[in-house]
Amino acid sequence: MRQAGRNDPPGARTEAVIARFLAVNPIACAGHGLCAELFPERVTLDEWGFPIVDPEPVTVELEQHARRAIAACPAMALLLRRGPDRGRIAR
Ligand code: SF4
Repeated sequence: MRQAGRNDPPGARTEAVIARFLAVNPIACAGHGLCAELFPERVTLDEWGFPIVDPEPVTVELEQHARRAIAACPAMALLLRRGPDRGRIAR
């Protein structure tokens, strides 16, 4: 939550939205393709069946879909990050 800004009405408090990005751990991923079925808004598959994750942030509206795909991944290879994936694998 952030402090109210100068242009906010007196006493206003605003929820800060932290952008989340879907990331895949390519070492753990076994190419089941389930994530693309459950979250086609951000995941497609390459020709070998491994996920290609859209670098766009996961919107609040899509976060529940992302979390469902993460929970269903049999290799626990998906995660939501607070920043865009820059080639690092971190949890
Ligand atoms: S569901 Fe998990 S293991 Fe399967 S392709 Fe997606 S990230 Fe990889």
